[in-house]
Amino acid sequence: MNVDKERQQMLLSQIATCLQCNDCGAMCPFSVVTENDAYSPQNKILQLEPLMKGEVLSPEGYDAVYLCSRCGACNDACPAGIDIMAIIQCERGLLQEQEREPQKTTHISHNILTAYNPKGAPNDNRNDLWITEDMVLSPDSTTAYMAGCWIALKNVSIAHDTMKILNACGITPRAIEGERCCGLFLIDNGHLDDMRAYAKEYTEYLEAMGIKTIITSCPACYKVLGTEYEALFRKPAFEVKHVLQVYKELYDAGKLSFEPQSGTVALRDACPLKDLFDIPRELLAAAGYEVKEIKNEHVFCCGAPAGAKPNYPEISGAVGKVSLERSQGADTLATYCSFCKHHLDGIKESEGEEGIPVEDIASLLVKAMKR
Ligand code: SF4
Ligand code: SF4
Repeated sequence: MNVDKERQQMLLSQIATCLQCNDCGAMCPFSVVTENDAYSPQNKILQLEPLMKGEVLSPEGYDAVYLCSRCGACNDACPAGIDIMAIIQCERGLLQEQEREPQKTTHISHNILTAYNPKGAPNDNRNDLWITEDMVLSPDSTTAYMAGCWIALKNVSIAHDTMKILNACGITPRAIEGERCCGLFLIDNGHLDDMRAYAKEYTEYLEAMGIKTIITSCPACYKVLGTEYEALFRKPAFEVKHVLQVYKELYDAGKLSFEPQSGTVALRDACPLKDLFDIPRELLAAAGYEVKEIKNEHVFCCGAPAGAKPNYPEISGAVGKVSLERSQGADTLATYCSFCKHHLDGIKESEGEEGIPVEDIASLLVKAMKR
């Protein structure tokens, strides 16, 4: 069972404390963009009780459950402290058990469990896709670089630029021969039974390699390996750093410094990295870029994760467009999540517009780095 009955009851009791203030709806990118209250988090959580009873949801109720990127803005906004994200995860877990989840969600989940990446692409050679001859890697190092699926399979230049910075500052990590998807998609979709086994297997594999520190460019890998695996299995014997933290350590130590650049950079924050939001601002400013804020009180998600993009491409695209529109006037839109970049590049491509260039922060920093 993905979520045990006791926890289901606990989550149900939280719903009874809802103040019906709709603070969550004002923050939810899917409610805002569709202007449809049926998709507000307040309505999303009301689907739990009928699902616990095994009832079939209305089409709107069903879409409410899956029109969610699990960005966390609703949890942050809720004055009653309701764990809206956990309720949605539980609803999705029940729908999976009832064999009623969207086909694309089942398909992607199957890809991750069998091919170890969301696309179902061959995984054995994934390091060959991003490792170049000029990179310095140390196969025996206890520090590993984990690129992440959307870099290895779609945006290898992020790994190239990241490794240029790390190598220039004296860091020569190892690659992970059996690197695989962290599994966030499965967690977001409530496949917790599968994830408990997956987290155990991958944690034990990484530990057996003697890895003590993982540096990753992917916010999902950072969050999932760094915190979620502990809840699903146990605390791993390695620490996980997002590469932004490493850049900051190198900058503070005087090992990473910049030639002053010019231009305005709009910054698209990565939802899972709330604790690190100051770092990209400090580094971009240190490199001479003027930072244009596109978030208000809360980050407005790119709209892609957790199955929103494959299941609802138009609405997911409309959510992503908000970031592009808010970036108008800047020279570049910077991200530090390869899935944000992948999604925003795809929107521009589908509209046949060149639009604002979307660059990972590594690419901007490597241009500015003093050699
Ligand atoms: S997690 Fe994000 S997308 Fe999902 S309901 Fe909350 S605010 Fe909306
Ligand atoms: S923010 Fe919390 S209390 Fe307010 S409507 Fe949403 S779930 Fe209910």
